[in-house]
Amino acid sequence: MSFLKLTDVAKFYGGAAAVIDMNLSVDKGEFVSLLGPSGCGKTTTLQMIAGFAAVTTGRIELAGRDITHAKPNTRGLGIVFQSYALFPHMTVRDNVSFGLEMLRIAKAERAERVAAALALVHLEPYAARYPRELSGGQRQRVALARALVIEPPVLLLDEPLSNLDAKLREEMQFELRQIQRKVGTTTIMVTHDQTEAMSISDRVVVMEAGRVTQIDRPHRLYEHPQTRFISSFVGKANLLDGVVDRAGASVKIGPLSLPLEGHGLPEGRPVALSLRPEKIRFAPAGTGLLEGNVDERFFLGSQWLYRVSTSIGELVVVCPNDGERPVEEGSSVGLDWTASQVRVLAVAESTPTE
Ligand code: ATP
Repeated sequence: MSFLKLTDVAKFYGGAAAVIDMNLSVDKGEFVSLLGPSGCGKTTTLQMIAGFAAVTTGRIELAGRDITHAKPNTRGLGIVFQSYALFPHMTVRDNVSFGLEMLRIAKAERAERVAAALALVHLEPYAARYPRELSGGQRQRVALARALVIEPPVLLLDEPLSNLDAKLREEMQFELRQIQRKVGTTTIMVTHDQTEAMSISDRVVVMEAGRVTQIDRPHRLYEHPQTRFISSFVGKANLLDGVVDRAGASVKIGPLSLPLEGHGLPEGRPVALSLRPEKIRFAPAGTGLLEGNVDERFFLGSQWLYRVSTSIGELVVVCPNDGERPVEEGSSVGLDWTASQVRVLAVAESTPTE
């Protein structure tokens, strides 16, 4: 049985829909991210779960209880905002203790729980400091400790890491996941950063223009994106348009016929295809599925990225930096890939085929 359940949830501001037909079931202990571009309805969804935004239609249940119209403070959820929202005039210890005082927890137990929460986020030595005396990462951890100390059934995180610089952000992603695994709190995180969503979550909910377009485990989402948007929003993708050829065994893209596998689509059907740049291999010119010319090459540290012009348009190819000499700009190359690595997307975004 799902622990947190949204059924046909919608939110309208005046006549404008912010969230439509939202259906989501989250299991106890799961870490789920809401991912999508600005304005797609992620924060509105989180706010409806928290009770800060009223649900226009639909139902939200938590542990079998209908909380659709429950007041925010009766839901008992832990919330961490992008801005951390710490009390500036209170020490770290008092910030973390505040929620327990509101719950009228006795002093001795409060002290014990605050100490445990600060230990969890490695901030015991900072208990007597004020927020202004902390770094961004430390403030973020205080906010996390403050949310977790009340032992909420669900932890809601709204872009919790977006104020941190890239390096710290990456460290905190791992730390956040570790802490969540340790305490086992069901967690919903809003982010517009696909790498963050993929690296931390058990499942990712992709939203576009107020609607959920795919809910999947990170690896599945990457390997089997259902729409054109998802395939290029989650990682890089070469998108190709073609028509199914030869009773479904291949697809015609411009002048070329390329093999295609396991999609079961009828001949003559227009299709959009997605091919990940790292699934393409260089082959000697004259061999491979396609001929190309390397226009530009970019060094990414662990990888090389190439822009290759071909008869069906420009393709991006990514190869690991294995210490060998990279392919030179201006080279004529063959391009090869395994047919089963090509993903078929629906042409109409609303009717995915997978
Ligand atoms: P971001 O990543 O930029 O925070 P988001 O995906 O969280 O975006 P929401 O903040 O949920 O998006 O907004 C969804 C839509 O609802 C947007 O079109 C936004 O303009 C609209 N919206 C949000 N809050 C309100 C409000 N209080 N009144 C009117 N419209 C609103």
